[in-house]
Amino acid sequence: MNSVYKLHTRLIKTGLHKDPVSVRQFLLACVPLVPESLPYARSVFDLIPNPDTFSWNTLIRAHSRASPSVALSLFYAMHRNGVSPDHFTFPFVLKACALLQRGQELHALILKLGLYTDIFVMNALIHMFGCCGLVNIALKVFDEIPRRDLVSWSSLITCFANNGFGHEALAVFREMQVTTSITPDEVTMVSLISTVSSLGALELGRWLRVFMYRNGFDLSVLLGTSLIDMFSRCGSIAEARAVFDEMPTRNAYTWTALINGLAVHGQSGEALRMFHEMKKSGLRPDCVTFIGVLLACSHGGLVEYGWQVFASIKNEYDMEPMPEHYGCMVDLLGRAGLLTEAYEFLVKMPIRPNSILWRTLLGACAYHGNLELAKQVKEKISALDPNHDGDYVLLSNIYGCSGRWAEKAGLRNLMKVQMIEKKPGCSLIEVDQMIHEFVAGDNLHSQSKEIREFLFSIIERLRVMGYVPDTSNVLFDIEEEEKEYNLNFHSEKLAVAFGLLNAGGRRTIKVMKNLRICQDCHSFMKLVSNIYDKDIIIRDRNRFHHFSKGICSCKDYW
Ligand code: ZN
Ligand code: ZN
Repeated sequence: MNSVYKLHTRLIKTGLHKDPVSVRQFLLACVPLVPESLPYARSVFDLIPNPDTFSWNTLIRAHSRASPSVALSLFYAMHRNGVSPDHFTFPFVLKACALLQRGQELHALILKLGLYTDIFVMNALIHMFGCCGLVNIALKVFDEIPRRDLVSWSSLITCFANNGFGHEALAVFREMQVTTSITPDEVTMVSLISTVSSLGALELGRWLRVFMYRNGFDLSVLLGTSLIDMFSRCGSIAEARAVFDEMPTRNAYTWTALINGLAVHGQSGEALRMFHEMKKSGLRPDCVTFIGVLLACSHGGLVEYGWQVFASIKNEYDMEPMPEHYGCMVDLLGRAGLLTEAYEFLVKMPIRPNSILWRTLLGACAYHGNLELAKQVKEKISALDPNHDGDYVLLSNIYGCSGRWAEKAGLRNLMKVQMIEKKPGCSLIEVDQMIHEFVAGDNLHSQSKEIREFLFSIIERLRVMGYVPDTSNVLFDIEEEEKEYNLNFHSEKLAVAFGLLNAGGRRTIKVMKNLRICQDCHSFMKLVSNIYDKDIIIRDRNRFHHFSKGICSCKDYW
């Protein structure tokens, strides 16, 4: 900021502050500086009698990141003043628009000004439409570009990826590989890795890894960390670990990605060991690291150590614990059955607990069957967030477990009246680089009949060995047989049956599920892993379950 004043003083002293060229130079010098210099730049700009396109561009550019709405209104002021925008103006205006998630009206103006041949403008348009969620228009703009460069392709890939079209994003990448000689850069790769990660598509992730090897990508901190996160989310903590070991340099994010990965995979001891290693290497854990560490304590049942870590956030690292850290503590206490302590902890916390924190406790009450406390907690949640479906489902399950079917039916009716629908369970499984989706009880899959028949044959086989479906988590108070029927078609059972049918020689079956796995599916998976001699990995809403030889990595504590 000081240098701006100095520069301006010198301009005034030398009388150059009225010379348009010098003023333009001065404005340009303000651009890369801190946001506080912007009003100053603006006041200098206001003194220019007839600012030209260059001066307007400079001012818009200066505002495009830090105050995008100002940048956009400057653009309109420029337009009103009869100064014509050019191909330098739009990339910055569009960047501001992207941040504001508006600006579709500029498209027509750009076409009118004949700027559709300018690659920078068109790439910025794709980015802007992507940020506005207008994927179709972004694709249309992409198709209209005569000679596309890496930024065009990357912008389209990111546009698809960020709007939930993961497969399309990967398809665009493949198309780029086949139809052009453009080599992707690190930014493109990171965007692809995070796409694969959100799809949970391990095979595709491996393919990207090989691609990076073959194309001579260095394992930079950014790429390595993204890969660790991706492999861990796709269910392969071993491959995440291999990438970590291979990386020449690591930063705090790298360690955090591995610690979190180990924690959700139930490798609590290893997660905590890495936490100590990280501290020893001189890196400072951040708030996300602590989420992983507390998660490890929670899944490992380490109450005492969890308290120590929680206290250290403030005492040792001088950070305020965030709601997520409180959530981990409630989870830790709840899992360990210390429900009263968890309740006290929430009541005494310095910020007002939100409904998510109370809901974590409600889940623990459901798990331990504590109806009295559950009712109290439900009241707290209702006061904060009356329309959430999960709580009704949980409370209704507690009533069900305690055999209070009448109250349970009442609650279900209340849900219907208030139009709160239960979210259907949904599981994803990847076979031969294709993702197959199963929704509880659905028969939409092309192999649906075969899968159901096979599933029944598995259940029969398990029954002979003494398996009895555990119906305590099923919602409705209906006839035992029908309840069992619903249970049989939970989405992860359908996915695993499909996986077994199409396993070929593979040892491991991996499934991703949107909800928490129920008691019955959990016992089912344990038995199947034993009888069919397969490893089954299920990522549910909270963690990974590795089923092998009849045991689960969570030690039946989730
Ligand atoms: Zn289930
Ligand atoms: Zn488990």
